[in-house]
Amino acid sequence: MADNLIKIAYLYEDLMNTYGDSGDVKILRFLLKREGYDSQVDNISLDADFDADDYDFVFFGGGQDFEQTVVAKDLPRHKDTLDKYINGGNPMLCICGGYQLMGDYYKTSSGVTIKGLGILPLHTVFKADKRMIGDTKYMTEWGEVTAFENHSGQTYFDDPDKLHPLGDMIEGYGNNPQDKCEGLRYRNFIGSYSHGPLLKNVNVANSIMKIIIERHNERIKQAEKVTD
Ligand code: GLN
Repeated sequence: MADNLIKIAYLYEDLMNTYGDSGDVKILRFLLKREGYDSQVDNISLDADFDADDYDFVFFGGGQDFEQTVVAKDLPRHKDTLDKYINGGNPMLCICGGYQLMGDYYKTSSGVTIKGLGILPLHTVFKADKRMIGDTKYMTEWGEVTAFENHSGQTYFDDPDKLHPLGDMIEGYGNNPQDKCEGLRYRNFIGSYSHGPLLKNVNVANSIMKIIIERHNERIKQAEKVTD
């Protein structure tokens, strides 16, 4: 295993990438390069094999309802590996439609319920009162973030003791119009409604990069143990 090669899995890169979400991966690769790391991005698309253990970082971007419907049919194959990866404290970033699919379900504006992976106790529903679109600003543990949101799904946590928001809203809607919070931080899993892309906020990008490098070093240690 190459010591300076960071392996990134981009789930359904060709289907899940709204409003510049792939920029999140590009920014991370740029920052990693500056730290002396090469990186490889594998597109884990429909029917592809995937073992999260082989990766230092998993990314899942946003998508329209149609693409989410297509992806949701293929995604359950990866439930066990993602569950283990996330609950093992490894870094994953999910944006908007990808974030929604990690929860129990997303009930769309046409009344269709798209089943999510159910790894995180949250659900998303369309409510006719509002499409949440516009600029957002919120405060995270890494400082202020500015971004852009555009979603009809409203996300609610079903186990608020387990799940914590990524940030407190200053401007915009975030998860839903009532809770005044944005996204999710669970261990090193980050879910967010922020496009633009999110990681143009270098405070967040640098913090995620550090977690990725920690995970990478851990993986190298494990690989060395196996070959000892
Ligand atoms: N289709 C979802 C919604 O409208 C997610 C949108 C997105 O990923 N940009 O809520």
